[in-house]
Amino acid sequence: MKPVLPGAAIGILGSGQLGRMLAISARQLGYRVHVYSPDANSPAGQIADREMVGEYEDLDQIATFAKSVDAITLEFENIPFAAASAAEKLAPLHPGPEVLHTTQHRLREKTFLRNNDFPVTHFIAIEDHLPTEAHFPAILKTAGFGYDGKGQIKVNSMAELEAAWDKLAKQACVLEAFVPFERELSVVAARGQDGAFVHYGVFVNSHANHILDVTTAPALLPAKTFQEAIAITEGIFEALRVVGTTCVEFFLRHDGSLLVNEIAPRPHNSGHLTIDAARTSQFEQQLRAVCGLPLGDTHFHAPAAMANLLGDLWSEGTPNWSALLKFPEARLHLYGKDDPRPGRKMGHVTALGKSGVHAAEIVKAARHALLTSV
Ligand code: AMP
Repeated sequence: MKPVLPGAAIGILGSGQLGRMLAISARQLGYRVHVYSPDANSPAGQIADREMVGEYEDLDQIATFAKSVDAITLEFENIPFAAASAAEKLAPLHPGPEVLHTTQHRLREKTFLRNNDFPVTHFIAIEDHLPTEAHFPAILKTAGFGYDGKGQIKVNSMAELEAAWDKLAKQACVLEAFVPFERELSVVAARGQDGAFVHYGVFVNSHANHILDVTTAPALLPAKTFQEAIAITEGIFEALRVVGTTCVEFFLRHDGSLLVNEIAPRPHNSGHLTIDAARTSQFEQQLRAVCGLPLGDTHFHAPAAMANLLGDLWSEGTPNWSALLKFPEARLHLYGKDDPRPGRKMGHVTALGKSGVHAAEIVKAARHALLTSV
């Protein structure tokens, strides 16, 4: 395919913070940006040249959108397959509908991983009835449309499993072994249209209430674990033939082995620190891949960390931005959302440091300063 060069229009399906940061990257490189989602005045729409508001089920509107751009990408893997397929007929779309089909459904994703011999948490499929026995503790997760711990319930007995499945309206689910992991890791990487592969190394992620809280880079790991995480990621990218930035989330077990938890075929929250810490951000990387351009250098300027800013920080009123901005190392990113609900990702703060741990101390202190009285 001929590269899509600056000046062309890039279409983004979805218009949240990932689309916003992608749009900022695209604008910086001189592209025009059109976004499509059901929301008006969205985080990405605020940056775009054109914000189209429509349902993903409205294939006529999707077609109008696709005809208005030179290449399409997405920031949200739950774009319905029909919408992605309709868009792809009118403009090149990366990652393609097949990648979405696999990764937007936990059961298909885990089955893909298992069938391709990637290490994955033990799971069983629950379609229309519960098994007569199961191992506990386990986590019941809806097969479709889940992220940030949404649609998942930890269960310790058959009785709890029955109650949990009722609560999830007896929809198709995955029952997954609970993994007593040592740490959660992620690899953010990109694959170009020519099959080129670049990665940002391995990040450590800590979660609070199933939502990412702090990412630290690089993870300090034995060389073997590092190489294995990168090799699994590259293997998954090849097997999926994904084009664009994608993240593979892992559990690192106490015995040093890795299990894949999830694949996110788009820039990832744990990769936000690449904006300030790496030569090429995960968003620019996505753009380069989608446009058929050479992938960028992933070199880090220094160890880095990122802390998410959730809506909870607004519970006592407007956060003390001045207090955060007094930290010389802190870089503040806000997503332009005006409704700070608890658990909602409103922004993040990044810092570079002498080590990942040092950078994490800075972002946590800077975030904490938001709660001091003005
Ligand atoms: P997910 O939406 O599946 O990525 O899950 C969100 C978070 O829930 C993960 O990052 C883990 O912290 C936790 N989690 C999910 N699945 C498991 C599991 N099988 N064992 C232990 N913790 C889990």
